[in-house]
Amino acid sequence: MSASVFPVLEAHLPSVSKPIQYVGGELNSTVKEWDCAPEGPTVRWTLMYPDAYEVGLPNQGVQILYEVLNERPWILAERTYAVWPDLEAVMREHDIPQFTVDAHRPIGDFDLLGLSFSTELGYTNMLNALDLGRIPLHAVDRTEDHPVVIAGGHAAFNPEPIADFIDAAVLGDGEEIVLAISEVVRDWKRQGRPAGEMASPRLELLRRLAVTGNVYVPRFYDVAYGEDGAIASVVPNRADVPERVRKHTLMDLDAWPYPAKPLVPLAETVHERFSVEIFRGCTRGCRFCQAGMITRPVRERSIQTVGAMVENGIRKTGFEEVGLLSLSSADHTEIGEIATDLADRYEDQNVSLSLPSTRVDAFNITLANEFSRNGRRSGLTFAPEGGSERMRKVINKMVTEDDLIRTVAAAYSHGWRQVKLYFMCGLPTETDEDVLQIAELAKRVIATGREVSGRNDIRCTVSIGGFVPKPHTPFQWAAQLDHETTDERLRKLREEVRADKRYGRAIGFRYHDGKPGAVEGLLSRGDRRVGRVIEAVWRDGGRFDGWSEHFSYDRWMAAADEALAGTGVDVAWYTTRERGYDEVLPWDHLDSGLDKDWLWADWEDALAVADGSADVEVEDCRWTPCYDCGVCPEMGTEIQIGPTGQRLLPLSVV
Ligand code: SF4
Repeated sequence: MSASVFPVLEAHLPSVSKPIQYVGGELNSTVKEWDCAPEGPTVRWTLMYPDAYEVGLPNQGVQILYEVLNERPWILAERTYAVWPDLEAVMREHDIPQFTVDAHRPIGDFDLLGLSFSTELGYTNMLNALDLGRIPLHAVDRTEDHPVVIAGGHAAFNPEPIADFIDAAVLGDGEEIVLAISEVVRDWKRQGRPAGEMASPRLELLRRLAVTGNVYVPRFYDVAYGEDGAIASVVPNRADVPERVRKHTLMDLDAWPYPAKPLVPLAETVHERFSVEIFRGCTRGCRFCQAGMITRPVRERSIQTVGAMVENGIRKTGFEEVGLLSLSSADHTEIGEIATDLADRYEDQNVSLSLPSTRVDAFNITLANEFSRNGRRSGLTFAPEGGSERMRKVINKMVTEDDLIRTVAAAYSHGWRQVKLYFMCGLPTETDEDVLQIAELAKRVIATGREVSGRNDIRCTVSIGGFVPKPHTPFQWAAQLDHETTDERLRKLREEVRADKRYGRAIGFRYHDGKPGAVEGLLSRGDRRVGRVIEAVWRDGGRFDGWSEHFSYDRWMAAADEALAGTGVDVAWYTTRERGYDEVLPWDHLDSGLDKDWLWADWEDALAVADGSADVEVEDCRWTPCYDCGVCPEMGTEIQIGPTGQRLLPLSVV
């Protein structure tokens, strides 16, 4: 049995901020008996999004797995989120362990702890939860009485910096693999937790997971370093585990229409809507985009399934806003039909639809008009990403300035007053001039808007993020721009915008300083040595590194200086250094399906485009022939798109 900590916790909740976030019992949440399996052992998971409830609850990945697992009568899954420092202090003082929000059970009582990392800045929150949960920080110190700690999500494509703290990592789509893992755990428990030929039962369980080929168990791989500090080799230390661990790809999204019972948060969260993922993957080939590269190929949900999921979600949640989610939603082959048919269905019903991300072309205005038919008109966001045409060619984001101006002209002439443009700073080969072009573009946007609308009150907000090179992308070899130069470049841009008397006041400018990007860079392309830095930061009080009010750059740098002393490498070595073709990258033994030589050729193409010696564009393989990135043959997958030719009928009145 596992006893609830709620009786002790409850007395302290009035003294902490937003206590409702720790209470659980949300609409559509699930609480099961501890021994829920009708026969045989129950397999128990805690799922954690390592951030505060308000960020973690809306996370689709966790919601999907929570449901998929709980649908099985022999599996119990509960959720936990990072607790704020005020509650942490109370928990430490009163000896309350990290608990689940569903039945308030200590997370240390479960068989598995699955963490979903969208960003590396959640690593210190993982360590805090382990410590509060009385689970040894280091995987080697755990026994069969402790949960198996498994990392997933995009950051798990290079889990090396957290290799010492996790027992395993899974790459790719989680729906099927969590069930496969559960079956391995059930069999092992049913057999009386044998040790087999391993030194302990826990090692035997990890071995069983590793030999499936779909679960990476870091301790079964030895890393050796050369004198120059780079990795010399990563080799399995057992014959029965694969040399490379493969990502998992779910091929039939229509067969997995989750979440089917979306959670309705009790406290305010970052998204107050229900989302339906309309397709997974992206093959546009933007060279900076890790999400696009690691989720290939494109797999669409059919218009019929999307319609059914929207209907079901609205009925089960009462949300009045539905987001149609994906990496580039306007690219769905039937997005026009989806928009029109859903707008027809929900005419006069107070249901608004939104596309969180939009491509820069005028078609989006037609879409946006459909989406705003039944509800409020949300802002329009476009992401040209690169400031100059040259830069956009280097990153393979083929948006011309004229495309952008045409699109915003259509928006302003259809009544929009506000357009948001998203850019990155610090892209490979970028100069000050490329970034200053953003000011010129924004001025042209305002001038065009005033002209087509005949009004003066229009605005354009320029939002800029610092570029962080990511594993499994063509830019994985690139040097990251140091944060001082990033900040200086953006200071010049801001001055350029502000100095303009005609347009400057109509242009908003959003940018956070470049320091968190430097830490993200260290964690994204780090190896196992970086684990010591993460641990030192956490021991020094580091938590919630994704929150500017909690993040401390100085703490990270001081920890890195100390933890990396004597290794021959430092933060600059991990971040601002360009890598060569022959270097063994920390994630080379983790197989995203992308062919490393293809990635390298694409990186060289980017450099050739940058210096003008070539003019190559990688097109989208959804609509052009395959260009052999390697994913489909390696993973046994294929592009799966419509059109289906089907339409959504009006809902019948019951
Ligand atoms: S293997 Fe070919 S079709 Fe498949 S994602 Fe890569 S380029 Fe596209």
